[in-house]
Amino acid sequence: MPFIDLKSQYAALKTSIDARIQRVLDHGQYIMGPEVKELETALAARVGVKHCITVASGTEALLIALMSLDLQPGDEVITTPFTFAATAETIVLAGLKPVFVDIEPDSCNIDVSKIRAAITPRTKAIMPVSLYGQVADMDEINALGLPVIEDAAQSFGASYWAPQSLRSGPQGALPALGRPGGGHKVRQSCGLSTWGATSFFPSKPLGCYGDGGALFTDDDALAQAAREIRVHGQSQRYTHTRLGVGGRMDTLQCAVVLGKLERFDWEIERRLAIGERYQRLLAELPLQRLAVRQDRDCVWAQFTVMVDERAKVQAALNAAGIPTAIHYPKPLHRQPAYAQDVSMPQAERAAERVISLPMSADLTEAQQDQVVQALMQALE
Ligand SMILES: *Cc1c(COP(=O)(O)O)cnc(C)c1O
Repeated sequence: MPFIDLKSQYAALKTSIDARIQRVLDHGQYIMGPEVKELETALAARVGVKHCITVASGTEALLIALMSLDLQPGDEVITTPFTFAATAETIVLAGLKPVFVDIEPDSCNIDVSKIRAAITPRTKAIMPVSLYGQVADMDEINALGLPVIEDAAQSFGASYWAPQSLRSGPQGALPALGRPGGGHKVRQSCGLSTWGATSFFPSKPLGCYGDGGALFTDDDALAQAAREIRVHGQSQRYTHTRLGVGGRMDTLQCAVVLGKLERFDWEIERRLAIGERYQRLLAELPLQRLAVRQDRDCVWAQFTVMVDERAKVQAALNAAGIPTAIHYPKPLHRQPAYAQDVSMPQAERAAERVISLPMSADLTEAQQDQVVQALMQALE
């Protein structure tokens, strides 16, 4: 079975995606063609913010968001060490200093209670990651009063309905399937802070067939800055007002995402249901499930659990024909490029124990049962 089943997804959407690609080939506006605006309009409406700016990748989205804030070299950005490298990479590329704050051991998202102690006069932004598809504690992070960039590369489509009274449910509590009751406003990942930055890398919850990404904000001035940075800092053609990058998303990739959006609601419902079923089937096994808070859901960009003796478990699953992956084997403060002499015990422990199982909207119950069966045997 595939780790992520993109073939079934394409088979289901082939007619529409092929037609949309053909339309781009016919009109020939490969850069900033009409599909770019069409996608930006559709995504902004979906997230519920004023501005969506498509960009070349999730990495580029993070970099452009940081550049739009006009920070000074050496300014500090607080982030998590338990993430894909791009999070800290873009901070360094923007001339800024990543300051790592450890994660919560049960959700693997940044531990808000530890952020305040890491804030210095040079702290100019916070970049939480909504890891595995579960939004971080965005309200509490926003309340710290700094610009916040949500690295939502894994969480596009995730919902957040935090009234804070509903938080801190029992550890490992399952999200209510579907949507919450109680009349609380349901907000979307990417629309929760100064900037939301997502990725359309093929394996993400909403993927294209190459590289792509998008930025979201309600702030008109920041949106204008990001649009300029995306095209080499141009405010008008050949007037370079500020430092920029070549960061556009191409029309063909926008056309692919428009096609994928046609069944995205269904895919999100499937992801929530498959994740919930995994959590239920794994409840009795000797492993640690990811805790999903009661005031949000998880779209499971990765379906990840934590086990002791991971190498043994991974080898047994491999032998049983179950593909797995490790997100991530080393926290960033232990990577040579971002090494810092700090101790992040929760991130270090998670890096030794996490293992991701096959997950996609097209995963069948039979496949899922096979994964659970193999995992049960691997853990014996
Ligand atoms: C995938 C990912 C990125 C980078 O996105 P690309 O589109 O691959 O550049 C950044 N942060 C996180 C957490 C990711 O998972």
